[in-house]
Amino acid sequence: DAVRPPVVILGTGLAGYNLAREFRKNDDVTPLILITSDDGRAYSKPMLSTGYTKNTTASDLAQSDAGSMAKQLKASVWTMTHVSEIDTANQMIKVGDAQTAIHYGKLVLALGAQVIQPPIGGDGLEKVYSVNDLLDYDDFRTAVQKNDVKKVCIIGGGLIGCEFTNDLLNGGFEVETVDPLGYCLPTLLPESAGKAVQAALEAKGAKFHFGPLVTEVNKADKGVVVTLNNGQTIAADLVVSAVGVRPRIDLAQASGINTNRGVVTNRLLETSAPNVYALGDCAEVDGQVLVYVAPLMAAAKALGKTLAGQPTEVAYPAMPVTIKTPACPVVVAPPAVGVAGDWKIDADGNNVRAEFRDAGGALLGFALTGEATRAKLELQKELPAILG
Ligand code: FAD
Repeated sequence: DAVRPPVVILGTGLAGYNLAREFRKNDDVTPLILITSDDGRAYSKPMLSTGYTKNTTASDLAQSDAGSMAKQLKASVWTMTHVSEIDTANQMIKVGDAQTAIHYGKLVLALGAQVIQPPIGGDGLEKVYSVNDLLDYDDFRTAVQKNDVKKVCIIGGGLIGCEFTNDLLNGGFEVETVDPLGYCLPTLLPESAGKAVQAALEAKGAKFHFGPLVTEVNKADKGVVVTLNNGQTIAADLVVSAVGVRPRIDLAQASGINTNRGVVTNRLLETSAPNVYALGDCAEVDGQVLVYVAPLMAAAKALGKTLAGQPTEVAYPAMPVTIKTPACPVVVAPPAVGVAGDWKIDADGNNVRAEFRDAGGALLGFALTGEATRAKLELQKELPAILG
């Protein structure tokens, strides 16, 4: 048994570490190696957008360092190590400068998603931050402090952009947010619900620019000037870019593993390469790319068993997402892309109950804001499973 080849997990985000925990519940002996290009601290990524509300530094958010995680998981955790190549035929990975190679028995890609960089010009780009991991978060907070920031311009009025808008308002900053679409959370919510979030954030002092694109960020005497393609400009001390994320598929792609929007897997989380699996933000599981915590937890449970020799398919129940805009709480379960149906909307001020139903009346999705979020459990029960 001592010669059993290791299970190797690439990534120590919520997907990588939760999978390692689930695996250890089922297999206490097979060697386990986790490899990450960051510092391997365990943290809850959703807390990155509540930092000014809860007054938490990066070290407050770090639950354990890589060394304690290694001990807890009876694993070895390699930090600051970039995996550059997978040789799927020989079951080897190459790390760093490719001088070191590791043979794996089973390999798991838990590589997360990367931020989309909007095409923006100008000489002030070093003042544009995106906050997608704990190291980014630390950089951002340090910059806010060092530059005595009073006003932030946020690019993007989607989930992350609206959460940061609310969080920075709670922190006492002035905030202007730009989005080319027409209202808050435009890809997740019907208009009346998005407008309710907008009104609540405006009441707290947010200023929105809906319609234009940001084209340039240039240095100014103090801070930057953000230029929009409608001719307007916004003066700010710092910019946060939050236009969305895309699954990290470059390593899989370069290694000949099938990718589409994400790394393609079946319900066993198997990729197209033998003994290579994927889960979390980088994965496209039976057609579903879901960049949220609940699906990766379900996947970690199933894959933890599969890797231990009990093949287990993942099931996704309905998983409504709670958006952290306390000025106007939001819970949304978006209907699957392309399904036929209509929104039925019941609005009372900022309390919007929107139900997406098909011609036969079956509930296929919902969006709730304000006090209407109380209907979450009742409606969740009525929704079909995402992967039954
Ligand atoms: P990640 O946490 O991104 O981990 C990826 C890992 O891969 C990292 O360890 C990285 O170092 C490593 N890596 C990448 N490339 C390489 C390489 N080549 N070699 C070695 N290692 C590599 N979801 C919710 O459900 N609810 C929320 O309220 C919520 N809020 C959010 C707020 C913010 C600000 C953000 C950014 C996301 C939020 N999400 C939320 C989404 C949720 O956090 C993610 O779905 C989840 O954390 C993804 O985990 P992951 O492990 O798949 O990816």
